[in-house]
Amino acid sequence: MHGAIRELVRAALGWAFPAGCLVCDAPEGADPLRHGLCPACFDAITTDAHASCPLCAQTVGPHANTADGCSECRSQSFAFDRAFRLGEYDGPLRDAVLRLKHWNGEGLADLLGRAFAECSGSDLRAAGFDVVAPIPLHWGRRLSRGYNQSEAVARELAAGIGVPFARVLRRVRYTPQQLQPSREARRANVKGAFLVRTGASVAGNAVLLVDDVMTTGSTLHEAARVLKTAGAARVAVAVLARRK
Ligand SMILES: [Zn+2]
Ligand SMILES: [Zn+2]
Repeated sequence: MHGAIRELVRAALGWAFPAGCLVCDAPEGADPLRHGLCPACFDAITTDAHASCPLCAQTVGPHANTADGCSECRSQSFAFDRAFRLGEYDGPLRDAVLRLKHWNGEGLADLLGRAFAECSGSDLRAAGFDVVAPIPLHWGRRLSRGYNQSEAVARELAAGIGVPFARVLRRVRYTPQQLQPSREARRANVKGAFLVRTGASVAGNAVLLVDDVMTTGSTLHEAARVLKTAGAARVAVAVLARRK
């Protein structure tokens, strides 16, 4: 069956017969679903099993000294000052992030944004932000997916930590999937992809940039660089999942 039709049928069935877990489809058992997730997925998604670097969110060993970053971010400079994550790109969190790419993933994106606010809310509030902003999606991709997953996550995260949400960036260039092997090539690929929106108040503000996944960090680096150039006082990033 054609993918889009299959999705439609699934959505229609889901409406007629309430589905199981939003991530693994397990039917509701003796333990009720929590926020639409089965107990196993809920625990896996809301528990970061590893320590992570506060500057780039990369997984580090349990006793690593990360006061000045980890081995990954000491070898390169990021334009953002800090990084927060819900967890590592693995297991049910990885499955959840992959499901966000479907056109009907918005409910799950909302849920993950709320889970992020619950798990990291105190750290995010303590860091102090003036605005929470999503990484914009190119309009073509937004059209095919029906929504911007980063925007849905950012909106719920912002509401959860009590900080205004705003779309401060726009994407002015389509960037093909990043298959470039070198860091320099990946950074060159996204260079000039973002502009600050007319009327967005960035100067002097602390901005929390939100994306679903961070792989090499080149996209978030470029977006943070543009915000800093526009006068942002601080830029931190928050991602659902960090790839190792
Ligand atoms: Zn599940
Ligand atoms: Zn690091």
